[in-house]
Amino acid sequence: MDPNWNEQLLSFISASPTAFHACRNLAQRLEREGYTELKEQDAWTLSPGGRYFVRRNGSALIAFRIPKGEFKGFLMMAAHADSPSFKIKEHAAVPTSGMYTRLNVEKYGGMLCASWMDRPLSVAGRAAVRENGRIVMRLLNVDRDLLLIPHVAIHMDRSVNDGKKFDPNTDMLPLFGDAEAAESFDTLIAETLGVNREDVLATDLFLYPRTPGTVWGAKGEYLSSPRLDDLQCVFACTEGFLRSEAGESAPVLCVFDNEEVGSGTKQGAGSSFLEDVLARTAESCGRDLRRCLAGSFLVSADNAHALHPNHPEYADRNDRPEMNKGIVIKYNANQRYTTDAVSAAAFAELCRRAEVPTQRFTNRADLPGGSTLGNISTAHVSVDSVDIGLAQLAMHSAYETAGAKDTEYLIRAAEAFFGSRFVREEDGVSLL
Ligand code: ZN
Repeated sequence: MDPNWNEQLLSFISASPTAFHACRNLAQRLEREGYTELKEQDAWTLSPGGRYFVRRNGSALIAFRIPKGEFKGFLMMAAHADSPSFKIKEHAAVPTSGMYTRLNVEKYGGMLCASWMDRPLSVAGRAAVRENGRIVMRLLNVDRDLLLIPHVAIHMDRSVNDGKKFDPNTDMLPLFGDAEAAESFDTLIAETLGVNREDVLATDLFLYPRTPGTVWGAKGEYLSSPRLDDLQCVFACTEGFLRSEAGESAPVLCVFDNEEVGSGTKQGAGSSFLEDVLARTAESCGRDLRRCLAGSFLVSADNAHALHPNHPEYADRNDRPEMNKGIVIKYNANQRYTTDAVSAAAFAELCRRAEVPTQRFTNRADLPGGSTLGNISTAHVSVDSVDIGLAQLAMHSAYETAGAKDTEYLIRAAEAFFGSRFVREEDGVSLL
C-alpha cells in the first residue's frame, strides 16, 4: 500500500472543483506523460506506439495508445468527472429583505440537500470571454470561502428533524453578502478572470464545497472528501492507464461529463464521442471498426454503495459491500448495470490474478437503485462490459466517505486490465 495514493487523490479532487477543471488537470497530466492532444476538427494521422487524447467541450476526455503491432480491439475504462452541485443562474444576484444578497441557483443532479448546508462553499466553472474580437473559454475558480446556505434554526422549525423537505427554489439559495453585495458578484467573476465585466459574455458556474478531504477513523481506514463519486474512479483509472504496459489491444481511458443528469449531452456517455474516437482510430490504423469492437471490452467504473452502519437494512441480504474490501462488481437484472456472467467472470479473474479483492453489489429486489455509464455507452459501442465501483457511504453528499485502501486496489486492477489480452472464444471471453 502506497500511502501517497490518498494524498494524490485528495489533491486531484481539490484541484478539480468542476468537470472542466478535472478535464484540464487530466490533459496536463497526459501531456507531461508524452500524450499528444488531437482535435476533433482536424485530420488524424496516428502512429504505432503513439499516445493521444481528445477533449470534447473541455469537460470530457478520451485518451488512448496505439499498440506497436496490429491491434485486436480496445480495452476501455469509463468514469465520470461531474458531481451533483448547484448551477448559478446567469442573472445571479437576489437582493433579500433589504439586508442580504443571495445567489440564484438551480440543482444540477440529485444531491443530498442537507449536506450542502452550513458549510463554506465557493464558485468555479467556465466563462465565455470577449478577447480581441474573439470569444474564448476561460476556467475560473474563486478559490476562497465565499458562500454558505444557512439552515433554519430548530427554534423556528421544530419539525426539521422529522423529515425535512428542501425546496430548491427557496431553501437552497446561498448567502453571498449584505445588501451592498448585490452589484458585486459579476464584478467578482470578472476580477477572478482578470477581464472587464462587460467582456464576460456567458458562464457555466457551479457551487462547490470548500471542506478539504481527510483520512480518518480508528486506523485511518476511511477517506472523506467532496466528489469521491466519481473522481476517485477517474483518478484510479487514469493512474492504472498510465502505469499499464503495452499489450495487443489499444487501451482507452474515457472520462465523461453529465452522468449526473442522464449522460444525454454531446460530452456525455450517451453521445457519439466514444464511437467517433474509436471509429477514427480504427480507420487511421487501417482496421475494421466492427471487427475491433468484437474484440473489445469496457469497464464502467462508478462508485458503489457500502453497507450503511446505521441502516444495514438498505443493503441486499447477501451482497453487502464493505469499504477497504476491494472492487465492487455491480449487478442488476434489468441491466442498469451491464455486468453479466461472461463479463463478471472475466473481470473477477483478472482481479484475482492481480491480487485485488472483489465483492458484489446488487440492490434489494424492492429498491430500484441508480444507473450509470455502462449501459449508456454500450448502447453506442456494443461490447462486452462490466459495471464496477468502489464502496462508499453517503453518495451524492457534499462530503462523501470511502475506504482508504480501495483507491490502490482500483489502480492495480486498471493497470492489469489495460495491459491484458482480451480473448474471445466460441463459448466465452477472458482477459489474460
Ligand atoms: Zn457516479
